[in-house]
Amino acid sequence: LLRMRGIEKSFGVVPILKGIDLDVAAGELVAIIGPSGSGKSTLLRCINRLEEPQAGSIHLDDVEITGKRVNLSTIRRDIGMVFQAFNLYPHFTAERNVSLALSKVRKLPAAEASERALAALEQVGLRHKAKAFPAELSGGQQQRVAIARSMAMTPKLYLFDEPTSALDPELVGEVLAVMQEMKAKGQTMVVVTHEMAFARQAADRVIFMDEGVVVEQGTPDEIFRYSVNPRLSSFLRNYR
Ligand code: ATP
Ligand code: MG
Repeated sequence: LLRMRGIEKSFGVVPILKGIDLDVAAGELVAIIGPSGSGKSTLLRCINRLEEPQAGSIHLDDVEITGKRVNLSTIRRDIGMVFQAFNLYPHFTAERNVSLALSKVRKLPAAEASERALAALEQVGLRHKAKAFPAELSGGQQQRVAIARSMAMTPKLYLFDEPTSALDPELVGEVLAVMQEMKAKGQTMVVVTHEMAFARQAADRVIFMDEGVVVEQGTPDEIFRYSVNPRLSSFLRNYR
């Protein structure tokens, strides 16, 4: 589904991504782990063209995302992104937050947008909170609304950038559970995470990045049990 080759990105003279190759198959959940500053967010931002890489190519199916004439709104339609900060509109209800892009971008009639928004909220277990404003929701609920907003657009690929790291520990589980369900339904997901237990349980493949390169990748067992890579071992030691 996604194919990246030789992705390089610098900010000024500082190289951040130094030739990343990455493939993601349909239905796969790929977890990206690595130290702060290793370029994980930058990599995700290149995938949906929030950043433009200086070298390399990215294809989503047979569309070249990195192509010069590519239509950015097509990319944004096909790729959903969920951030650490949920970025909900505070003055809109949960339902309106989810339906907004359906009406404005997809141009769906109000009734249909609303119906799809409610269906997406149902999937994250929050249909009963449709009329609530973000301030009336817990952090975990707000993040689930943000996920519903992404789901409602039915993207081909979901990118998650540390979706639980702004949450109190007791709220992390409900968001990870929603992500597990998405995986069970066959969604394709790339997840940057510090939740090693989640990467271990839910990922089909784990990518360890350090200093702008993919140092190691493999199944959760290969990464968490059998790897002898010293950089990976020292990184994992910080997670007990
Ligand atoms: P974290 O785990 O802390 O989120 P990360 O792996 O996501 O880290 P990135 O956010 O991709 O790391 O950043 C990689 C490096 O690129 C950092 O040194 C950061 O300071 C730098 N960087 C990121 N965005 C920009 C920018 N717009 N301009 C200049 N430097 C940037
Ligand atoms: Mg980051």
